[in-house]
Amino acid sequence: MEWGSRSVSRRRGPGVVRGHLQAIAAALRQLARPPMAMPLLEAEDARVPGYRGVIVFHYDRCIGCSLCAQICPSRAIKMYRVPGDKRIRPGYDVGRCIFCGLCADICPVDALETSIIHDRVYEDVPSMNMDPVEWAVWSKRILREEREPGRPRLRAVVDPDRGLRYERVEA
Ligand code: SF4
Ligand code: SF4
Repeated sequence: MEWGSRSVSRRRGPGVVRGHLQAIAAALRQLARPPMAMPLLEAEDARVPGYRGVIVFHYDRCIGCSLCAQICPSRAIKMYRVPGDKRIRPGYDVGRCIFCGLCADICPVDALETSIIHDRVYEDVPSMNMDPVEWAVWSKRILREEREPGRPRLRAVVDPDRGLRYERVEA
């Protein structure tokens, strides 16, 4: 206990005040700089080899083998019964997905693929968890967005001064 109280009192010395002042000075310096954030919603990530975004699902290709659900390390894929369909089909919880791409790799009929889209806005948490039909419809939208021409493309660059930031890629 005594050791703990000694170390706390040491931390409350002039060094702490200096640290606070440095932090405030850094924040004020930052105010004079251009923003680091880019309009991600209007932009498309520049695809680099191996890039893995959200997973898209082609319902018509699926054979219901459930390999994707078995291999998914974060339980983002679960199998569902769909009314009027004899086979079970996968659904996708994008909130759980870690974008490892294993499901797309293992699918024997290319019913799953990785997209270049990663950052999305969702209405609420439940809407991130899609049944097979919802996933298929959502996937068509993702694929359409992916192919949309004229959207600004971004790539992440390491700035030694400011850390990671996005910059536009000229077409
Ligand atoms: S990318 Fe990985 S975490 Fe996401 S659904 Fe596929 S297997 Fe699961
Ligand atoms: S691995 Fe492919 S074919 Fe098998 S259930 Fe998943 S999406 Fe369908």
